[in-house]
Amino acid sequence: MEYVPNILFALALIVGIGFFVRNVKKLTRNIKLGKDVDVSDNKAQRWKNMARIALGQTKMVVRPIAGIMHVIVYVGFIIINIEVLEIILDGLLGTHRLFSPLGSVYNFLIASFEILALLVIVAVIVFWVRRNIIRIQRFIKPEMKGWPKTDGNMILYIELVLMFLFLTMNAADFQLQQIGAEHYNKAGAFPVSQFLLPLMEGLSESSLILVERTAWWLHILGILAFLNYLYYSKHLHILLAFPNTYYGRIKPQGQFNNLASVTKEVKLMMDPDADPFAAPAEEDTAEEPEKFGASDVMDLNWVQLLNAYTCTECGRCTSECPANQTGKKLSPRKIMMDTRDRLEEVGKNMDANKGEFVPDGKQLLDDYITREELWACTTCNACVEACPVSIDPLSIIVEMRRYLVMEQSAAPMELNNMMSNIENNGAPWPYNQMDRLNWVNE
Ligand code: SF4
Ligand code: SF4
Repeated sequence: MEYVPNILFALALIVGIGFFVRNVKKLTRNIKLGKDVDVSDNKAQRWKNMARIALGQTKMVVRPIAGIMHVIVYVGFIIINIEVLEIILDGLLGTHRLFSPLGSVYNFLIASFEILALLVIVAVIVFWVRRNIIRIQRFIKPEMKGWPKTDGNMILYIELVLMFLFLTMNAADFQLQQIGAEHYNKAGAFPVSQFLLPLMEGLSESSLILVERTAWWLHILGILAFLNYLYYSKHLHILLAFPNTYYGRIKPQGQFNNLASVTKEVKLMMDPDADPFAAPAEEDTAEEPEKFGASDVMDLNWVQLLNAYTCTECGRCTSECPANQTGKKLSPRKIMMDTRDRLEEVGKNMDANKGEFVPDGKQLLDDYITREELWACTTCNACVEACPVSIDPLSIIVEMRRYLVMEQSAAPMELNNMMSNIENNGAPWPYNQMDRLNWVNE
């Protein structure tokens, strides 16, 4: 009987971590559905970006209130997890406050965790008020209705509950230490939870132990549940922000990637020595021609799919987007959310069909992202610049437009006219090349 709690704890840990590993495998499989892309260049710059943007949160503090609050929650989350290590070891070994022999260092750590927990509570309340009372514009856009709104709030409630459980556990522990209960040796400093002591006054030793143990168990079970909730939530970014900023774009913004096959054609056309009537080389005819652009998630590259899973749905991109600001249907955040939703749909299809994707008559284009949204983009890069975790919604828009133009010849009329003019007149205007300087004489 003595070891029952330890066994139960080990079981909870195995189940919690087991589900998490299963979700990580699904996530990796889905991301790998994307096309390969070479991101092995410039490792030093990539590490620097990860340290600066993901670890240092430099792009978050561009908007100071939200940024600083976010840093508090982030640091609180990371540091309080040191406490989780002690909880796990205590749970497995049947000890209590295993690290307490560290003496004053331990006291300092527990005191810092408590102060951080309080700051996290304050930050979470501010976040909740911004979302639900002040209703900041970027949180009430059409794509934020339903699950995204619930998810945003849910995570705030979970964080709040976890912090209160942590402080309740410490308060009960502190009280037990003061009444000299067995196993509850004097250890730790409790600058915040001491204010909860009046709530514990008059409780017997057994009731206090019940409060302390219940808070302890709910705290660790809550953390394991949170770990597994991540996969279904925008909060996956707390893990994926690191690889995403590492693999993020390092080319200058505005520099588009050229399609190798098109570049080759253009070079051939411009080569004065090339024979326009020569038969194509054997290697060019052997392979099936590559699909131009993207109409579904499998046509995107894996970094773009990683981007979709990393999106925090913060809406900074949408709030900077000139198309969105002028009332167009486009929202770069929705582009990322749609990509993730479609990818999840493809993943579920594979789960249901023994790992094989069975065509479902749907695709990212039209079923999720409309042509109107795609053509509303000015390719200004403001969304890429604004994103705090190096996501590039524009690259997905460009790939999908590429598909429309090159596979379906389905560009809007204005663009088709412009392209014909460039082809015929060497300029986007409908004038003969010879007339291009006429304006000088006007
Ligand atoms: S690049 Fe397109 S989607 Fe991004 S901010 Fe500019 S207009 Fe909006
Ligand atoms: S793409 Fe970036 S800026 Fe836009 S919602 Fe996602 S995380 Fe926020």
